[in-house]
Amino acid sequence: MPLLVMKFGGTSVADPARIRAAAEKVRAEVARGHDVIVIVSAMAGRTNELVGWVNETSPLYDAREYDAVVSSGENVTAGLMALTLQEMDVPARSWQGWQVPIRTSSAHGAARIEEIPRAALDAKFAEGFRVAVIAGFQGLSPENRITTLGRGGSDTTAVAFAAAFGAIRCDIYTDVDGIYTTDPRITAKARKLARISFEEMLELASLGAKVLQTRSVELAMRYKVPLRVLSSFEDTDDTSGTLVCDEEAIMESNVVSGVAHSREEAKLTLVTVEDRPGIAAAIFGPLAEAGVNVDMIVQNISEAAPVDGGAPRAVTDMTFSCPTDQVARAERALAAARARGDIGYETLEIDTEVAKVSVVGIGMRSHAGVASRMFAALAEHGVNIKVIATSEIKISVLIDRKYMELAVQALHDAFALDKAG
Ligand code: ASP
Ligand code: MG
Repeated sequence: MPLLVMKFGGTSVADPARIRAAAEKVRAEVARGHDVIVIVSAMAGRTNELVGWVNETSPLYDAREYDAVVSSGENVTAGLMALTLQEMDVPARSWQGWQVPIRTSSAHGAARIEEIPRAALDAKFAEGFRVAVIAGFQGLSPENRITTLGRGGSDTTAVAFAAAFGAIRCDIYTDVDGIYTTDPRITAKARKLARISFEEMLELASLGAKVLQTRSVELAMRYKVPLRVLSSFEDTDDTSGTLVCDEEAIMESNVVSGVAHSREEAKLTLVTVEDRPGIAAAIFGPLAEAGVNVDMIVQNISEAAPVDGGAPRAVTDMTFSCPTDQVARAERALAAARARGDIGYETLEIDTEVAKVSVVGIGMRSHAGVASRMFAALAEHGVNIKVIATSEIKISVLIDRKYMELAVQALHDAFALDKAG
């Protein structure tokens, strides 16, 4: 029988009534002839509560015990989902990660799935069970300790099962009805996309559209698992939601598919850095070691006035961006590098009031003029651009945070994203 993976997020399993509604969707797929692997998240808010308890108990916690506690929310919903299905006369049972066992690395709190042996589930399907319910977000380390996959990790569990079992599709049920051209809270003109490519989704996911965990999209792209994002709060059928799929499966596409934003960005500039080979490594090495996720980087070469009549010195200003909550860490790492004499700079300027806005589209590969259209639209609205970064299918700008909404609306209009390609 064709196998389908159905994943339900926290709001979709928030209480027994919501679990019943989700189970109805599973039963409908079984009735249509599918075997189903169901992946569940913890009830909405539960993981945050568990994380809070860990922090309250032990601020510098042992990550192995953090995982033991924080993984438990999914155990509850997996059991309740199996019970609910049984009440509907659908043969089902639950599995916790260690029972499959889902083999992961030992990076507690951010483990990677390494292997999902099929034997246990295959045997149950052979017995006539139609549904396997799996606790998302968790696995087992080589040391036989419980691991978790990082926040939002049950999306990754779902895609990994879909890949391991050759599922026809991985349906991600959530509280939104699909992927939009931009955040509908920012503009009412945001339009639901019928399809979007893996690559575009990857850019949107990592740019702050929080619907899917980024790693789940990477995995889906690697194994070519079609992913569908749809609402568990609505009646749904085969055409509901947004299909995240291979580029070839998208007939028509806009040059730009979406506008993403990320609010909590900071811009740091090292002023008057000596321009010499190795300077970038000397700056960004310590930042990486300190766990700072540097995003955009700009370097400007200039010439400083000669000192005491000597030759002009080549100096540079180095600007980069990182999440606002990592600024303190970045400052500390840079100050330490300066104290060691590894780098020299005059001042460190920090602007924590910036946001990043990006346009994304695979059409950019074959169409020129996207950047100029973007910059013109921002200029018309009086939005000043502080930093620009581009990739093959994306252009990002850093701007004052207070203009973020305005910029998103202006770009959505400029690329006519309210109209289908
Ligand atoms: N319950 C976990 C979290 O809240 C995993 C997930 O829902 O994907 O991060
Ligand atoms: Mg999620």
